[in-house]
Amino acid sequence: MKSIKLTFNLKQKLMITILVACAIPFSFGAAYLNTFFEKWYYSFNQENTYQMLSQIDDYLQLALDKQMVELTEEIASSSQILKGNETIRTYMSIETEQASAISSEEEGVADYFGNMKKTHQDILYVFLGLEDGSYMEYPEFKPVQNYDPRVRPWFINAINVDGTLMSEPYVSKVTNEKVISFTKRIILENGQKGVVGIAVSIEALTNKIEQIKIDEQGYVIVLDKYDKVIVSPKNHSWLLQSPDQIGEQALLNVIGNKSYVLDTLDGEKKIMFSYNKADDFYTIIAVLDPKIYQSNIQKVSFILVGIFVLTFVLLMYVVNYVANRFTEPIISIAKSLEKVKEDDIDIAIDEEISQYNQYKDEIGTISRAVHVLIKNINKNFDLLLKKNEEITLSNTKLAASEEVLICQLEEIEEKKLFIEHLAMHDSLTDIPNRRYFYEFLNNSILKGEKGAVILMDIDNFKSVNDILGHKTGDDLLILVAEHFKQIIDEDSIISRFGGDEFFVLKRGIDKPQMRDYLEKLRERFDDPFVIAEHKLDIKLSIGVSFYPEDSCDVNQLLMNADLAMYSVKNNNKNNYAFYESKLQDSVVEKIRIENIIKEALDNDGFKIVCQPIVSVSTGEINSFEALLRLKNYPIPPAKFIMVAEETGSIISIGRKVVDLVLAQLKEWKDSHVEIKPVSINYSAKQLFDLEFYDYLVLKLAEYDIESRYIKIEMTENVFFEKRENTFSFLNKLRQLGIKVMIDDFGTGYASLGYLTAFPIDVVKLDQSINSRYLNHDSLDIIKNIIALVHSFDLEVVAEGIETMEQFDLMRSQGCDYIQGYVFSRPIEVQDVIPIIDTKYF
Ligand code: C2E
Ligand code: CA
Ligand code: CA
Repeated sequence: MKSIKLTFNLKQKLMITILVACAIPFSFGAAYLNTFFEKWYYSFNQENTYQMLSQIDDYLQLALDKQMVELTEEIASSSQILKGNETIRTYMSIETEQASAISSEEEGVADYFGNMKKTHQDILYVFLGLEDGSYMEYPEFKPVQNYDPRVRPWFINAINVDGTLMSEPYVSKVTNEKVISFTKRIILENGQKGVVGIAVSIEALTNKIEQIKIDEQGYVIVLDKYDKVIVSPKNHSWLLQSPDQIGEQALLNVIGNKSYVLDTLDGEKKIMFSYNKADDFYTIIAVLDPKIYQSNIQKVSFILVGIFVLTFVLLMYVVNYVANRFTEPIISIAKSLEKVKEDDIDIAIDEEISQYNQYKDEIGTISRAVHVLIKNINKNFDLLLKKNEEITLSNTKLAASEEVLICQLEEIEEKKLFIEHLAMHDSLTDIPNRRYFYEFLNNSILKGEKGAVILMDIDNFKSVNDILGHKTGDDLLILVAEHFKQIIDEDSIISRFGGDEFFVLKRGIDKPQMRDYLEKLRERFDDPFVIAEHKLDIKLSIGVSFYPEDSCDVNQLLMNADLAMYSVKNNNKNNYAFYESKLQDSVVEKIRIENIIKEALDNDGFKIVCQPIVSVSTGEINSFEALLRLKNYPIPPAKFIMVAEETGSIISIGRKVVDLVLAQLKEWKDSHVEIKPVSINYSAKQLFDLEFYDYLVLKLAEYDIESRYIKIEMTENVFFEKRENTFSFLNKLRQLGIKVMIDDFGTGYASLGYLTAFPIDVVKLDQSINSRYLNHDSLDIIKNIIALVHSFDLEVVAEGIETMEQFDLMRSQGCDYIQGYVFSRPIEVQDVIPIIDTKYF
């Protein structure tokens, strides 16, 4: 079955609620009122009925007890009777009656009785009986048998009593009617006693009462003092019987009951009230038809229902009004909002609800708020419409742009690939970068493969950059990368991390194979590279680390290769080395040396030795070179100076040497020896000591030494460091009168460009040049170099001259000064004075 779903709006809900809430107490109230009324109606009727019954009682009292008694007494005291002069007739025997004649007196009494009866309709007959047995009554007594009054109960009862007696009702022997007799004793003037009485017809008396109708159908039953029914309009057979004799339970029930009794009387449902003033009075019972009651009550109920319905209608009206007052605004606001929801707003709705704006309650607040809201929405709606148009326009444009976008997307896809490529490749050389290399290497290690990391560093690449410019440097790198690419197969990759270092990863290679591989590789670099008219002799320092033997960690492998490569750099470069664990030891060694340096700096652990530089023209000592030594450790200066350069302690060392040299010069000066200039070695790394010059000047002043006694030796590297500073630094030194000497000339680039560009005074030819070219075959090279240096107006010192043969050759080529074991090794400072004036040849 389909269920019907009822939906009510706010107003309906409110009304239903109020009506249900009212209807319940209302119907209970009505029911209560109905029963209350019913009860009230019964008791009200009871009162009325009682009043009527008491009137009936009064009537009976008056008509019977009082009036009849009075009448009886009047008769009893009547002189007419009391005279008793003549006799009245007896009926003791029928014959006697017939015999005697009516006396005049009897006639008089009879008249009197006749008048009584005439004037009092209720009187059935009046009678008189005497002791002598005489008897008379009116109307005339015509007995059919003997009649002796003296044996009659009324005579016997009354003859000895003073007052008037009222008999129980009985059926008259004379007339066969139901009667009540009133009797009184009389004493005649002649002394004879007798009894007079009247018989009253109950029917006559009660006829009026029988006629009394209560509520049309109701009637009255009366019981006399002897509890005998004397009035019973409906059932005459009950007359003169007691309720017990009648046997009607309803009668017994109602007698003595103060309120009404609903019971069956004579086979019919009746409502009965009983009234009894006192015990010796009449009991009067009202017998009523309950239908009349019910119809009366029904009438009232109808009226009540009418009132109920009327009130309910009124209530409905009020409820409707109240509900409207509260719900109408809400419903119409809700409708407005509903329309807003459906995008169907216009100013009209706005006005519809604006009537509620004046309300002082919450509805007013809501209405005003909604009013503003809708106004705003209207405003915004216009805006939205405009925007919508704009958007539609833009949409068309967008659709048009879509094609363009698709094209761009394709481009972007391409660019994405390009960017992905960039992310994995070196921008300069377009070979894989560090990331790519790491991943590749890591994968290979994870796969459990074996292989090697090869690090290749271009020797003296920095010089190319500095001397020939970065563009040339970059071109060189690209060219080198091209060379490397050619050796790459499926088991290897080439990668650049930046700078002049290239990494090759080679899988599945062992050490002997590696040697062949590297030799072949180096062969590729035999021929010089030609870049922008420059011929560049490119040499490589190569470090190799194998996995998994050396390590399985990517970073460690790279560090290992680095260590191996540096070991090559430290040993004349242009070679290759495999990583060994002892290289790790060199790192440890470096740390040890650095600690020794620090200790020496703090505890006066340095000293200088001096090596004479001899003039070729005179054989005399021209000057000394100060060479640094650790007092307590036999570590060669080349080694600890290199560590100091790496760690930065060279700056402190540089100042320390200045200190030691000037102190020594001061000492010599103070001992009045004719002192000679001392040259101090200056590392390119000391260029970072920006106050070195100021320090030097300060110390010269402090020790009171003329600046011409100081010379500065520095290697070509100085020119590759910060150019501007170097230039002004050298100029300042020379302005002070300090000579600048280029040390180790011929070990770096064979470029002589800087000889013209920089402010220098002396060039020291490196020992390696001498040992390489100082033979008769290559003597021209030395000759040309010296000639060139001289052409720039610079002096030449030849270093490391160990034999006289070498000395002679140098001298023959025009060298200006000689420094070497041939004349003197570096000597302790205290040994200087004794040899200071030595003439070596
Ligand atoms: P250097 O400046 O080239 O110094 C000359 C080196 O050649 C000295 O070695 C010297 O003993 C050595 N020598 C001189 N004549 C001969 C010879 O006939 N045959 C041979 N085989 N060697 C000769 P040393 O004293 O061991 O110094 C080595 C390097 O340590 C120096 O080379 C210099 O670069 C550096 N050095 C020494 N003292 C200092 C210093 O005070 N400051 C700086 N920055 N470097 C210093
Ligand atoms: Ca030197
Ligand atoms: Ca040197």
